Amino acid sequence: MKRTHSDGNREFNPETLALGYGYDPELSQQAVKPPIFLTSTFQFSSAAEGKRFFELAYGLREQEEGEARGLIYSRLNNPNLQMFEERMAAWDQTEVGATFATGMAAISTAVLALVKPGDAVISTSPVYGGTHYLFQHILPTFGVTVKFVDAGDGAAEAVRAAAQELGPDKVRVVFIETPANPNIEHSDIAAIAAVAQELSQAHEGPDVVTIVDNTVLGPVFQRPAPLGADIVLYSATKFLGGHSDLVAGVATGPASLMRGIRDLRTILGTVTTPFNGWLLLRSLETVSVRMRRQAKSARSLARILVEHPRVTRVLHPSLLEPGSSQHELWDRQCTGHGSLLSFEVDGGEAAAFDVLDRFEVFRLAVSLGGTESLVEHPMSMTHADVPPADLEALGVSAGMIRVSVGLEHMSDLKRDMLHALGG
Ligand SMILES: *Cc1c(COP(=O)(O)O)cnc(C)c1O
Repeated sequence: MKRTHSDGNREFNPETLALGYGYDPELSQQAVKPPIFLTSTFQFSSAAEGKRFFELAYGLREQEEGEARGLIYSRLNNPNLQMFEERMAAWDQTEVGATFATGMAAISTAVLALVKPGDAVISTSPVYGGTHYLFQHILPTFGVTVKFVDAGDGAAEAVRAAAQELGPDKVRVVFIETPANPNIEHSDIAAIAAVAQELSQAHEGPDVVTIVDNTVLGPVFQRPAPLGADIVLYSATKFLGGHSDLVAGVATGPASLMRGIRDLRTILGTVTTPFNGWLLLRSLETVSVRMRRQAKSARSLARILVEHPRVTRVLHPSLLEPGSSQHELWDRQCTGHGSLLSFEVDGGEAAAFDVLDRFEVFRLAVSLGGTESLVEHPMSMTHADVPPADLEALGVSAGMIRVSVGLEHMSDLKRDMLHALGG
C-alpha cells in the first residue's frame, strides 16, 4: 500500500495507512498481515549489494532517488520496525521515524544526537520524571546546560527569556512536554517553535530544534509537526502500545535531523526488538478507536467527579473554562481531551490512600494509556523525587489521585469510582 491513492495525489488518512502502508505482501508469501521478522541479520543477494547497503548505512554516499535502504542487521533496522516507523511518520505528518527500546531511549538518544558540550537545552517543566533526571543530572555531566521554564500560558515568553539568559547562540534544543502531567497544563507549541526559529535566524551554526513529547494526547488528538515542531516523540509504552504489555518509544521528524538520531541509535543500541515492532504495528491499527473511546469515558468520569462532595478539584482538558487562555490554546492545538485526568480528595494522603485501596476495577499502578484503567498517587509514586516546594508549584497535593481511563464499560467505571469515594 502506498501513502497516496492512485486516483490523485491526496494522501490516505493515518488510520487507513496503519492497516497496510509500508508492507508488500509479495515479499511475504501473500500474507495479508506482516509476519514477525525474528532475525538478527539479513542475507545480501550479492557482495556488491552488501557493499551498496553499507555505503548508505555509514553515510559514505547520498541515497539515490527512489533507492531503498537495504536491510543489514536488526540493530540498524528490521521490517517490523520500518513499517511502524513509516506509519508513525504518516500520523505525525513528518518524513522519517525511529523506534526505540523505551520512551526514555527515544528521548535520550534524540537529545544526545543534537547536543555537544557547551550547548544549552531549554525544557518546559514539569516533564516526565526520567526526562527530568536526564536533564537535571546527566546532561550537565557532559557540559550541557539545561534551563527549565514553567509549562502553561507563559511558556513561549519564558523560553525567549531563558535563551537571552543562556546566550541565544548556545541554545540547541527546546523540549516541550504538553500537556504536562499531572497538572494538565498546555504549552503553546506553535509559539515556542516560532521563538526557536527566531533564535535560529539570529545566529549562525545549527538551527534550534524543537522537540515535543507527544505521549499524552498524540498521535490522535495532537499533531505537533504542522504547528512547527521538528521532532515528535512518544513513550510507545502508553497509547501506541496501548495494552500495557510492552515498553517502547518512537521519534519522527525530517530526514535531515532523523539521520543523526538513527545513527546514534545504531551505536548506543537503543533500538527495540522485532517482536515489539510487530506488537506496535498491531496496536497502531486501533489507536484512534481506543483513544477516542477512552477520552469519552474520561469526559464522563470528569463530570461525575466534579459533582462529588468529597472531591475538591478535578483536572481534565474537558473541564477547561471556555474563554480561558488554556481553553483557547487547547482548542487551537488539540482535537480531543484525552483520557488522563487528576482529581483531589479532601483529607490528604490518608484520604487518597483510602480511596485508592477501595478500587476494584481501576488497578493501582503507574503508567497510562493501556486498555485497563489505572489509578496512582503522584506525590508518593510518579513524582516522589520532586522537592516539596516544586510539588506545590506544580499543584500536586497529598490528596491528588491520577487516573488513566481504559476501555472497561462506562457503567462499571462509574460504579467503581463512586464505590471508592464511598458514595
Ligand atoms: C512514560 C513516559 C515517558 C517514558 O517512557 P518509557 O517508555 O517508560 O521509557 C516519557 N514521557 C512521558 C510523557 C511518559 O508518560
